[in-house]
Amino acid sequence: MPSDPPPTILSFEEARHVVEDHAARLRPSGKELVELLDSVGQVLAEPVVADRNFPPFPRATRDGYAVRAADLTQVPARLHVIGEIKAGADIALKVQAGQAAAIMTGAPAPPGADAVVMVEYTSREGDQVEISKGIRVGENIVPVGSEARRGERLLTPGTRLDYAAIAVAASVGKSRLLAYSKPRVTVLSTGDEIVDIDINPAANQIRNSNTYSLAAQIQAAGGEPGLLPIAPDEPGRLRELITDGLEADLLLLTGGVSMGKYDLVEQVLRDLGAEFFFTGAQIQPGRPVVFGRVPWAAGATAREAPGGEAAYRYFFGLPGNPISTMVTFELFARPVLEALGGMTQRKLAFLHARLKAEIKTKTGLKRFLPAILSGEFEQAEVELVRWQGSGDIAATARANCYVVVPPDREHIPAG
Ligand code: AMP
Ligand code: MG
Repeated sequence: MPSDPPPTILSFEEARHVVEDHAARLRPSGKELVELLDSVGQVLAEPVVADRNFPPFPRATRDGYAVRAADLTQVPARLHVIGEIKAGADIALKVQAGQAAAIMTGAPAPPGADAVVMVEYTSREGDQVEISKGIRVGENIVPVGSEARRGERLLTPGTRLDYAAIAVAASVGKSRLLAYSKPRVTVLSTGDEIVDIDINPAANQIRNSNTYSLAAQIQAAGGEPGLLPIAPDEPGRLRELITDGLEADLLLLTGGVSMGKYDLVEQVLRDLGAEFFFTGAQIQPGRPVVFGRVPWAAGATAREAPGGEAAYRYFFGLPGNPISTMVTFELFARPVLEALGGMTQRKLAFLHARLKAEIKTKTGLKRFLPAILSGEFEQAEVELVRWQGSGDIAATARANCYVVVPPDREHIPAG
């Protein structure tokens, strides 16, 4: 038997770049027409274009009086009120020199008027209004087409449909949208000690939480999870289940990727012809994370952009410790899933916050430690949850972020 190739352990940044480079070449499998409200969280597969000018008429942004700015070069000034314009009204009025029209927010400014004076600077007596403050041309009126011109692209394919994007689609009258099909992502948990959640575990058994946390993460990232039965630490059955799992767009394995005698995942994948881009990253939790691909039979849907010569199925081997599984999904699997879902790639987002209590760790690995972000307004504060390490599910459930500790820091003081 040939000896195994040496492990490829990358820094966090290197590993992330490898993942991003591969993700950049992946494409979704198809598109589907979706009802507007069912499309929330899906990825847009068509441009959304302005079907009219925005705004379609010069829109008043204040309650007050539509005027000609030139009439107010000397204030106070008295103008003749020729009528009132409500939102939704037809404009039959024309404002001439010396005249004003009462106007409401959202109403069309009448021809002749070039500004709207806020009601606060006016006092009305019958058909006269006294205005106490001068005004610039254009003030409190949004010109026709200044937000968007008819035909302009408002949303680009690859956009994740959040509530603001839904507002844009609604505003151009799209009751259905073309969205990319959700990628199918299979989850395969491995380990002789793992039992499913509807089984009463013996003292030496652990309930399978990774399959479920991953399914939740897959859904949150826009994928369609497919759950496989738990694989034992036995090569034959493991190989069968991995082969099943590779039918999907992406396979996520958990457990069995450390250096133990029964950590068989890499070996079985290697026997299936896998190519490994890395077999570890200098992070904690999550160090043994594995990323690679298996050549996939011709005729199967090619997942590479035109020009990619072969079709592959990608997989991640995520470490089995529940928090390691969660962290490595977010750091590495998520960009690949999002690319398969057609989403435009984005960088990881970081936030600066004041540390509430000191952190002591060992150097050498970049740490992603579960933490609680709190504080009000601009006073973001963060503190680690007290945990027992990367198996501590309950502690992590109290966290809402990760604190990232650089590999060369062993002590970060509070503040
Ligand atoms: P492994 O990566 O296989 O060495 O597993 C590391 C630790 O994670 C062990 O304590 C396992 O019992 C635990 N673990 C592995 N898979 C799961 C799972 N699906 N759900 C919960 N815990 C798991
Ligand atoms: Mg195991």
